[in-house]
Amino acid sequence: MNRVIDQILPDLPYDNHAGTRTQCNANFNLKNNFQNVKGCLNVYTDGSKDDEGAGFGWAVTVDNLIVGECAKRVNLYNSVFQTELAAIGDVVTWLLNYIPLDNNRNVFIFSDSLSAIMALQNPIERSAEVQRCKGLINRLHARNRTVVCWIKGHAEHTGNELADVKAKEGAAGAPFHDIPAPLRVAKKAISDQMINFWQNSWDDVAGHRQTKLFIGTVTKEIHPIIIQLPRRQLSQVVGWITGHATLNRHLQIMGLSNDNWCRACKRAPETPHHIIFDCVRFEETRYAQLANQDYIYDDPDRGPLIRVNMDEWTLAERIMNLDNLVLILCFMKQWNNIFVN
Ligand SMILES: [Zn+2]
Repeated sequence: MNRVIDQILPDLPYDNHAGTRTQCNANFNLKNNFQNVKGCLNVYTDGSKDDEGAGFGWAVTVDNLIVGECAKRVNLYNSVFQTELAAIGDVVTWLLNYIPLDNNRNVFIFSDSLSAIMALQNPIERSAEVQRCKGLINRLHARNRTVVCWIKGHAEHTGNELADVKAKEGAAGAPFHDIPAPLRVAKKAISDQMINFWQNSWDDVAGHRQTKLFIGTVTKEIHPIIIQLPRRQLSQVVGWITGHATLNRHLQIMGLSNDNWCRACKRAPETPHHIIFDCVRFEETRYAQLANQDYIYDDPDRGPLIRVNMDEWTLAERIMNLDNLVLILCFMKQWNNIFVN
């Protein structure tokens, strides 16, 4: 999986980890029983994200004095979870430098992100960023008893409010702190690229003239629907989409019919395309199905016919979506009623 991502996305660093077990040794307190203990380092962290920007902030206080604070911006593709976690990782890095080695002070880290705290508690985490953060906390905890506490957000705890302000400040400006993209973003980018690749191959492949009338744009969405059809119907639908149907034109090519003319109108070769878009016998069905579409027109040379102008049947229509499936099923059913016992 990793190698595939690296090949497809050489320029997008993403957050993934093979998943070795790493324990976070700090203590955890999820009870929201906030209290300031004298002489302790109280650390407040917060992340922030909206449509404009993402960032995080933190503040460190001792006896209600601010001894350190910070605001940083991150990539817009980073998740709120990542900003919350980055805030913790960043402040712990700062603390490791700030606190003298022999200063054995208690450290309370307050975060309002339950998901970030629970990720730190979880020994098997797939995020490399979580692993890195655990490592930093473990280093801090080795010399300063560290407690990671959950604090209710927006509940007027001064420290949390301060971190919130810093986080918003971070989201709005510099300095920049680079965090790899969440795996979800990488997966989405890969999926987009694969669809692109698929579309280009489909555009480039020669032939498949009939199928391309219905499927101009590739999509994964129709498969789960189409596969649920009863077996016979499924096979017939595929036949109608691809032109490999038990209709005269295909049957003649197969040597199974003497002529290829439409049994309904005797005016054109019998193909799914003719039946759905052109055949005079199916005007009512066509009108019922497509009346409100721009590409329906009256053919002046052939009297008031309701036909589909194929020049107007644009690429946008040629998506094998639910509407088109219903369209094909509808004509197929009508055809079967008349010509298939
Ligand atoms: Zn016909």
